[in-house]
Amino acid sequence: MELIPELSQIVGASHVLTGADTERFSHDWMRVYSYTPMAVVRPGSTDEVSKVVKACVAADVAMVPISGNSGLTGGTVAEGAIMISMERMNRIREVSRDARVAIVDAGVILSNLHDAAEAEGLVFPLTFGARGTAMVGGALSTNAGGSNVVRYGSTRGLCLVLEVVLPSGEILNSMSELHKDNSGYNLKDLFIGAEGTLGLITGAVVRLFPKPQAYGTAMVAVPDLDAALDLLNRLQTATGGAVEAFEYMPRAYMEGFRATFPDRRTPFDCDYDIAVMVEVGATAPRDTVPLEDGTVPLVSFLEDTLATMFEEGLVIDAEVAQSDGQRAEMWARREAAAEVSLHQGPVVNNDVALPLDKIATFLDMAGARVRAIDPDADISGVGHLGDGNLHYTVRPTDMSAQMKHDIMEAVEDVVLELQGSFSAEHGIGISKKPQMARRKDPVAVATMRAIKAALDPKDLMNPGKVLPD
Ligand SMILES: Cc1cc2nc3c(=O)[nH]c(=O)nc-3n(C[C@H](O)[C@H](O)[C@H](O)COP(=O)(O)OP(=O)(O)OC[C@H]3O[C@@H](n4cnc5c(N)ncnc54)[C@H](O)[C@@H]3O)c2cc1C
Repeated sequence: MELIPELSQIVGASHVLTGADTERFSHDWMRVYSYTPMAVVRPGSTDEVSKVVKACVAADVAMVPISGNSGLTGGTVAEGAIMISMERMNRIREVSRDARVAIVDAGVILSNLHDAAEAEGLVFPLTFGARGTAMVGGALSTNAGGSNVVRYGSTRGLCLVLEVVLPSGEILNSMSELHKDNSGYNLKDLFIGAEGTLGLITGAVVRLFPKPQAYGTAMVAVPDLDAALDLLNRLQTATGGAVEAFEYMPRAYMEGFRATFPDRRTPFDCDYDIAVMVEVGATAPRDTVPLEDGTVPLVSFLEDTLATMFEEGLVIDAEVAQSDGQRAEMWARREAAAEVSLHQGPVVNNDVALPLDKIATFLDMAGARVRAIDPDADISGVGHLGDGNLHYTVRPTDMSAQMKHDIMEAVEDVVLELQGSFSAEHGIGISKKPQMARRKDPVAVATMRAIKAALDPKDLMNPGKVLPD
């Protein structure tokens, strides 16, 4: 039986898209990659996913899982392949208020899970600019980070168990609500961050947390990154780790933001070299219930810390959100980073992780080495400073392949000298495969290849991604 009719029989003809109907699936979000899939298949259940995979394996045809298609590394490139879209598998199977977990299909859009958790007074804390599009399965497959990692950890830590369709089509169903299970290898962690190369995630049990009842949010200008780290540590110590977000927004980012959104307001009368957006969140009434004068203790506490540091010369300027609207405005400014980057045109983008106390050294060293290659390059960036993740962007004076390569190499040399990582949260996909070849421990790469070969001997599950050629 030919593959397309067979797939139509499994999922229904209207859920097998071909030709012009595949257009919206045939490029990535940044439009860096475009490709022509053989077809896009939209299964409606785990059983259908299993049958689709078995049919593709029998026909020796490659498969590429796709969720919200907001990935930034070309992980969904699918030339001639069958794309398996998770968009119909969007059921929130259960939200358990008492166990504080949600059991979900992998195609649930993050913001829908946020709404469902909030209805129970809880929060699913994985959040970033693409939350209205990105799905749970995509976030798990890239081990996404986002703005709240400083408090809750990245996606891996938020997931208890998974349901996965293996490259053989078998269903690995370990769905349970257990927080502890030491019965053998932790298979869940193999699939998280594997970017669909080891199987297709169809369901997950994820952790929920009490929703903060009050937030203190501020834009803060500091003289240097040591002062920023001091602010983070003082707030963490004093609040018992209640810092929800600590985001790096330097002068170059604010200039890029203004150029992209000339009508939007920016904080402060002038730009400072280093600004951070900080947010603390609390659940306890002693921190969250307004006092007689209307002040919220948590917000007063943030203001007092900033005032003390201002007197010590460790804070230069600050704007504390006085309303939900002002808080939303601050977040919108931070979450516009991808649009700001698109507006700037082609850049050399580095999604790097560093030890928190080495970020200032990294910026100095990387800046000097980039300028030695191209003295007039524009250096910008933004990042999740609280967990040591910088999106360090360079716009060279020419975008030749050689220049791009030289700048990448220079930045990564510094990252590795400081014991950092060349991929903090966006994954590898296609775009970072050269780095995997050049920078990743060869023993680690060989171990990954052995796992891939054991699970996917025909190399049909998202081939050509993650592992170097
Ligand atoms: C505006 C914007 C802001 C962003 N901010 C952040 C950020 O702060 N932090 C961050 O980490 N990322 C960020 N990203 C990147 C992106 O949103 C994340 O990588 C996200 O996790 C991808 O989810 P998705 O559903 O769109 O997955 P997709 O892009 O569809 O897929 C990503 C990868 O996972 C694989 N995959 C998808 N679904 C499955 C599945 N069910 N089973 C197995 N494999 C699967 C795909 O084959 C692909 O390799 C941002 C992107 C944008 C556009």
